[in-house]
Amino acid sequence: MPKYKISVTDDCIGCEACIAICAESFEMEGAKSRPKKAVVSKIGCIQEAADGCPVDAINVEEVK
Ligand code: SF4
Repeated sequence: MPKYKISVTDDCIGCEACIAICAESFEMEGAKSRPKKAVVSKIGCIQEAADGCPVDAINVEEVK
């Protein structure tokens, strides 16, 4: 089963789009978003949130 490492870079502008798309996996910490879990086994809406981020700040990396 693949797992995915999720991270949000400092490029985040705090627009909260990822929260709107995928509140189950992202939360705000001050002015920036962060993943609720750094490693997940189901990508779910996370890919959609990454695709929807206006500054490409969400990284999804498959880990074996
Ligand atoms: S969509 Fe991107 S820029 Fe907006 S809060 Fe989420 S990570 Fe930050």
